[in-house]
Amino acid sequence: MQHTLTILGATGSIGRSTLDVVRQHRDRFRVAAVVAGSNASALGKIARDMGAEFAALADGTKLADLRAELGGSGIACGAGESAVIEAAERDADIVVAAICGVAGLGPTHAALASGRRIALANKESLVCAGRAFMRDAAEIGAEILPLDSEHNALKQALAAGVIDDVLGMTVTASGGPFRTWTRERMAAATPADTAKHPTYSMGEKINVDSASLMNKGLELIEAHHLFGLRADQLDAVVHPQQIIHGLVHWRDGSVTAGLAHPDMCVPIADCLSGERRLDIAARRLDLAAIGSLTFEAPDEARFPCLRLARWALEEGGAMPTFLNGANEVAVAAFLAGRIGFLDIARVVEETCEAAASRSRPAPASVEEALSIDAESRRIAVSALPRTAAPALAGL
Ligand code: NAD
Ligand code: MG
Repeated sequence: MQHTLTILGATGSIGRSTLDVVRQHRDRFRVAAVVAGSNASALGKIARDMGAEFAALADGTKLADLRAELGGSGIACGAGESAVIEAAERDADIVVAAICGVAGLGPTHAALASGRRIALANKESLVCAGRAFMRDAAEIGAEILPLDSEHNALKQALAAGVIDDVLGMTVTASGGPFRTWTRERMAAATPADTAKHPTYSMGEKINVDSASLMNKGLELIEAHHLFGLRADQLDAVVHPQQIIHGLVHWRDGSVTAGLAHPDMCVPIADCLSGERRLDIAARRLDLAAIGSLTFEAPDEARFPCLRLARWALEEGGAMPTFLNGANEVAVAAFLAGRIGFLDIARVVEETCEAAASRSRPAPASVEEALSIDAESRRIAVSALPRTAAPALAGL
């Protein structure tokens, strides 16, 4: 059976891996729409190659470029926020939600509200507005398939029992490129250092989040919403080989784990498959060749972002939304060379401390989440060093 697919964030790391899977099964997929931020040339090529019906760029100033790229192809296109929403709402069986950061909230929710099955990579949607997303998905009857490797492994492991028999879940972390670094060394880390991820090639924001272990913290919040577990039922363990991605602990002492080579095409193929699994060019797992799998407890003293995210999850309410907004400001400031790596946690902590006194409930809608996100960004910008603040005021 042929499935219709829309890809939000088609030019990014997850978008490209999704295209890789689709190219291996062209007969099974028809591409409805593709969306990207501002690269007209890259999006135009993807739309042509996939024979998409519609292509949309978030950057409203790039419409003429995109039209020129698509000239003569018959592919409709648009640019700006409304064009992105139009793409997200288009008829499709599956929408791969792989826009990076809070920018993914509106389009991902628009796809969900149209009843689409969502293959969710954009974890920030659940971190910022998880309660609203899960409630709306349940009301509409839209399915959210976890595409994040850990959550995809947990979803697959969960098939071994029923959720009421689950004691807890563990997500694994590679430990990132700074796993063995001292705080002193991290103080001088550059954006290029964060790009040296041990197992995955990813977008620049998630590279920084992986280096700070904020990514793992965001994933604990993501797991809380996806599987309905409490903070004390969720933990993370560092596992540098990244062969085990997630573990489900059952009440009888059994543990079911999800294993695979660290390759995002594997969870993507799971999300795109129907009743039968997709045959893709994935490496066969050879444990004898790997030799040993090692584990260590995450060091929250060296990686305070993980501690802050755990705290935000326990705190609940709007705290994860504040945490995420502050992190996006701090990561952008770090990538712009305006603050040091260790300042990321400081900016997030100061923002969360300021937010704690405001004691806000969890956002009940995407609009509320975006308004709290804007509030968080204002606090975070004021927590940046003075020299960094003016240029980042638009963040
Ligand atoms: P990326 O930066 O490589 O790609 C982001 C994509 O979003 C690009 O296509 C970009 O053009 C598009 N985009 C950016 N701003 C946009 C906007 N305002 N409107 C529309 N499109 C916009 O990021 P990535 O590494 O592919 O990650 C995407 C998401 O998937 C993130 O939420 C990340 O946490 C999650 N994720 C990534 C990985 C991975 O291995 N890369 C793994 C798990 C989860
Ligand atoms: Mg992950």
